[in-house]
Amino acid sequence: MTPKTIKKIGVLTSGGDSPGMNAAIRAVVRAGFYYGLEMYGIYRGYEGMIQDDIKKLDSRYITHILERGGTFLKSARSAEFRTPEGRKKAFDNLQSHGIDALVVIGGDGSLTGAHLFFEEYGIPSIGLPGTIDNDLSGTDLTIGFDTACNTAIEAIDKIRDTATSHDRLFFVEVMGRDAGFIAINAGIGSAAAAILIPERKTSIEALVDKLKTRSKAKKSSNIVIVAEGGQSGSAQQIADEVKTFLPHYDIKVTILGHLQRGGSPTSFDRLLASKLGVAAVEGLLQGKYDVMAGMINNKIVYTPIVKAIVDDKELDEEDLRVANILST
Ligand code: ATP
Repeated sequence: MTPKTIKKIGVLTSGGDSPGMNAAIRAVVRAGFYYGLEMYGIYRGYEGMIQDDIKKLDSRYITHILERGGTFLKSARSAEFRTPEGRKKAFDNLQSHGIDALVVIGGDGSLTGAHLFFEEYGIPSIGLPGTIDNDLSGTDLTIGFDTACNTAIEAIDKIRDTATSHDRLFFVEVMGRDAGFIAINAGIGSAAAAILIPERKTSIEALVDKLKTRSKAKKSSNIVIVAEGGQSGSAQQIADEVKTFLPHYDIKVTILGHLQRGGSPTSFDRLLASKLGVAAVEGLLQGKYDVMAGMINNKIVYTPIVKAIVDDKELDEEDLRVANILST
């Protein structure tokens, strides 16, 4: 597309927060200043766009935020933005500030909203993949995924200590309603006995057999990782079922929950967020609209948002194979 003249960019974070969102906002704003643009912070995602919760940013807003978890712009889910009336209000507010381009940092829902908004109003926009779930195509990894996996592994290591001391079987539930990326990564990284993910069905009988085999091999602790959206049920449901087969096992369940969303981003997430933040502003200035900036094989790639949100991100079969070999 022929680049439009862009003078004022608005940036927002939307949907579930993820570590590295602050680093991404900082990079977007710094890159904007570098190219002589005015930068605006839109608070509480699309909700703030509708309620005109919009502030012109200067460098004070982004000092010392790179290392902080969460998002200083705050995030929200907005039911009103799903309506044409809500989006019209949002558009009018952008117009009143003279904002002529947008950077939307969020997950697939937030990018879907950005795409619709672009189709309706033609405001140049670029999405950045900000979600711990890693469930967006068009990027090898999403901003926040690496930190979430590190947080999960750190917690599971601690659970391992108590599991070993008491010869216990732990079921640890990690985030991932529709995608097993965190479960697989944290499962391999914490030597899990089994990993249950939404994309695959694991039979309870097969799981029980595996646990029995490991017991014969005198494994002193067993940790089973369950993604929250697992096809076989929640960690608690699976633990209850397994207990009926293995009544003598000392079984415990831990749900890591929102712990995985918080915390200071890892160096990987800081780097990814920083590169993608700059890529978002440069992409807009080059006329790349309605796309998501991502990183594939360490190169910046702009993927049409419709493709990034629709394509189911494939699990890495090699990861599954390795997990299987290492847990037998
Ligand atoms: P996460 O991956 O953490 O859940 P997300 O960005 O997918 O993040 P959602 O709650 O799905 O989170 O979406 C965030 C917001 O994006 C919604 O509250 C809504 O305002 C907007 N949005 C999502 N889907 C649409 C849609 N189809 N039309 C318009 N806006 C949408």
